[in-house]
Amino acid sequence: MNLIILGAPGSGKGTSATVLREKYSLAHISTGDIFRSNIKNGTPLGVEAKSYIDKGALVPDSLTVSMVEDRLSQDDCQKGYILDGFPRTLAQAEALDEMLAKKGDKIDAVLSIVVDDEIIKDRVSGRRVCEKCGASFNVKFKPTKVEGVCDLCGGKVVQRADDNEETVANRLKTYYENTKPLIDFYEKKGLIVEGDNGKDSDTCISQIEDGLKAKSLI
Ligand code: AMP
Repeated sequence: MNLIILGAPGSGKGTSATVLREKYSLAHISTGDIFRSNIKNGTPLGVEAKSYIDKGALVPDSLTVSMVEDRLSQDDCQKGYILDGFPRTLAQAEALDEMLAKKGDKIDAVLSIVVDDEIIKDRVSGRRVCEKCGASFNVKFKPTKVEGVCDLCGGKVVQRADDNEETVANRLKTYYENTKPLIDFYEKKGLIVEGDNGKDSDTCISQIEDGLKAKSLI
């Protein structure tokens, strides 16, 4: 089963993707995570991507598409995957269709995570992530037991550089301008499955699973 998960920054798409990855043994491909790991390791891709990411802008399609194509060719993707944070533009969606068609592959469903903007701003400004294992916390909604220390692995828990108020406003604007049209694009293909993540993630996951069952994917 090949899935895409779409949602505004802070909608909880990463968390939902992690639950689905574990439950259905999918490879979890987060373009944001791949960029962050390249930035941390100081690769040429990381150096180029950083200038865009720090402003809350999108990394150019050419760089992003070839990075995803390379990732999808790896062994762990052959049994199914969940794309998290990609595609983010119509050009990326079209490039994805092309690269999958070449392999005789396709996307089976597109999960659209819906949340109110006000909730999103709160969630993103309070979000903290573990530098070591990537686990996500929130100072207001899901604090760590010990401040600054990951409950799961004991790693250092920090605020992402692009989670400040100004960058979040930019990221939301970018999302509405570029990514929202993707929902229409996939709606026309009959691929959208919606999950409301305004209350709790269990409700969202069960709505998604109902949608996947309706498509006989699980
Ligand atoms: P995320 O972790 O998904 O919120 O992504 C963090 C940042 O990485 C975004 O604000 C963009 O600057 C960049 N990024 C991630 N995925 C993409 C993509 N598909 N296209 C362009 N830029 C991306």
